[in-house]
Amino acid sequence: MTIKVTFPDGAARDYARGTTGTTIVEGISKSLAKKTVAMRWNGVLSDLSDALDADGKIEFVTRDSGSADVLELIRHDTAHVLAEAVQELWPTTQVTIGPVIENGFYYDFKRDEPFSEDDFPVIEKKMAEIIDRGAAFTKEVWTRDQAKAFFNARGENFKVELVDAIPADQSLKMYKQGQWIDLCRGPHMRTVKDIGNAFKLTKVAGAYWRGDSNNPVLSRIYGTAFATKEELDAYLHMMAEAEKRDHRKIGQEMDLYHFQPEAQGSVFWHPKGYVLYNQMETYIRRRLNSSGYVEVKTPQLMSSKFWEASGHWGKYRENMFVVPDEVPGTEEEGPVLSGKSDLMALKPMNCPAHIQIFNQGIKSYRDLPLRMAEFGCCHRNEAHGALHGLMRVRQMTQDDAHIFCREDQIQSETEHFVHLLYSVYAHMGFSDVVIKLATRPEKFGGTVERWDAAEKALGDALRATGYDFEIAEGEGAFYAPKLEFHLKDAIGRSWQVGTLQLDYVLPERLDATYVAEDGSRKYAVMLHRAILGSLERFIGMMIESYAGKMPMWLAPVQVVVATIVSEADETAEKLVRQLRSAGIRAELDVRNEKINYKVREHSVGKVPLMFVVGKREAEEGTVSVRRLGTEGQKVVPFMDALVELMAEATPPDLKAKAA
Ligand SMILES: [Zn+2]
Ligand SMILES: [Zn+2]
Repeated sequence: MTIKVTFPDGAARDYARGTTGTTIVEGISKSLAKKTVAMRWNGVLSDLSDALDADGKIEFVTRDSGSADVLELIRHDTAHVLAEAVQELWPTTQVTIGPVIENGFYYDFKRDEPFSEDDFPVIEKKMAEIIDRGAAFTKEVWTRDQAKAFFNARGENFKVELVDAIPADQSLKMYKQGQWIDLCRGPHMRTVKDIGNAFKLTKVAGAYWRGDSNNPVLSRIYGTAFATKEELDAYLHMMAEAEKRDHRKIGQEMDLYHFQPEAQGSVFWHPKGYVLYNQMETYIRRRLNSSGYVEVKTPQLMSSKFWEASGHWGKYRENMFVVPDEVPGTEEEGPVLSGKSDLMALKPMNCPAHIQIFNQGIKSYRDLPLRMAEFGCCHRNEAHGALHGLMRVRQMTQDDAHIFCREDQIQSETEHFVHLLYSVYAHMGFSDVVIKLATRPEKFGGTVERWDAAEKALGDALRATGYDFEIAEGEGAFYAPKLEFHLKDAIGRSWQVGTLQLDYVLPERLDATYVAEDGSRKYAVMLHRAILGSLERFIGMMIESYAGKMPMWLAPVQVVVATIVSEADETAEKLVRQLRSAGIRAELDVRNEKINYKVREHSVGKVPLMFVVGKREAEEGTVSVRRLGTEGQKVVPFMDALVELMAEATPPDLKAKAA
């Protein structure tokens, strides 16, 4: 009996049934066999040693391909080696689960004394030893009872629980490397040697068994692994940079904002932070105004009936903050929530409210496109554990807008938007932007024809802009395709910030119609779009990308005028007044401190400029200019310094106009 195996280039060959991927690749070429660590069999990532018993398509996964498959295999294999190392070092430790995650893997262990980072060197050494031994990964299929008996005998109670959770009629796979064996879905590479030496343990944390706080606490070891040492080093360097730039740390040093437990996930913006926030908002508002948008403001709190109509109540309710409509005024009236009162909810998004404005009065095809913007303050009920500084908040403000348009305007509106977005990112200092066109998912609403037309319109719009884009196959929203805009920050991390989402459904649900040229009523098409996304998150990202050293036009304090001697105090005060009346955000520092102390302090606060005034400067009408991050200083006439600063502090969009 033979089977037909088709190769990626379309060629096909017959093999005996039961031939393994290993045999096939060895038959092709020694050098290919040497670097092939796994295969995709009919699209499924599989062990190379799997016996093939039907016709199918084969693709070899090579160690040096740089593919996501290889990275995943390396990390998964490393997790197994980590567990083996830990049990070899501390035999009474119980193993639980060890999945691959973004940027690495972890393994959860049960041990009386939790692991600490001090244990890493000895564990890593043992891991290297195990990899050196070079054991092959082998797979055995066991019955459930067999596996249960095995783990029971070893006191691996968590594994027994895992086995118990598998339906009785299902066989299960056990992967062995040397003497160590684990319940695992696989696949794995050929031997532990395929892992290489580019791995590193990164941190420890406590984690509840199965994420349930009623369960025992496990000790979780995180690690990462790459195909090459260079890639690992680059990653570790990026992580170290990211830690130094953590916006939560810098935000505190710059006195920008804080959080407190009474308002989980909602920002207390301090005066300096709010300057930054306002600068961003003002800038975006200017850009929207000059791009033909109108700005609106809609209610925070709206009745549940409203959210039922929009469809949010059914699908999105667990993410919404819900409050009773009426609260009894006196104690005699009983409990606050009687169960009878109507419910209201804080808006999680602005779209349905914008449709209410659109629906006031009759719209004609001539009124379209209508570009309706709002700095919409939205609340989403994120779990406390998911909150992360400015990056993940419960109260956020989006630079949100909805473009109501006709079907034949989708393309031009998209093009218009993409140009605006690129220009905004460039002004913020980001030029590396990746666009993804997310297409029809497996489960989708609407007709295929409409999907095809929508995807074509978005694709054509992107092609017309001249910007490259990628296709994110099957990642569109349920009802329509969307565009995602990802930008790279200063240390190479990618952030999805902007979006444009096409929507036929909400206008139909909420009856957003216009009178077409032929007099008929038609539903408007809606484009949900944001450039920055959430202002909070974008600011957090900016802080990290710039390591707090914001461009002059955004800097909360642009210049500090500091004195060396008290004789200069009066002059310094006068200079600050002049700076402020020229629109510069200036502060005065006449404290009786050494100038080096003042310089150090303001550099921690990331103030870009200092004008230092001593006795001589005061007499001569000059200032000694010090710039953040550079050595030395230059003495210039105050008026020259002021003019230069005013030019530098002009927002980039206004600068462009003046030029
Ligand atoms: Zn595994
Ligand atoms: Zn929207």
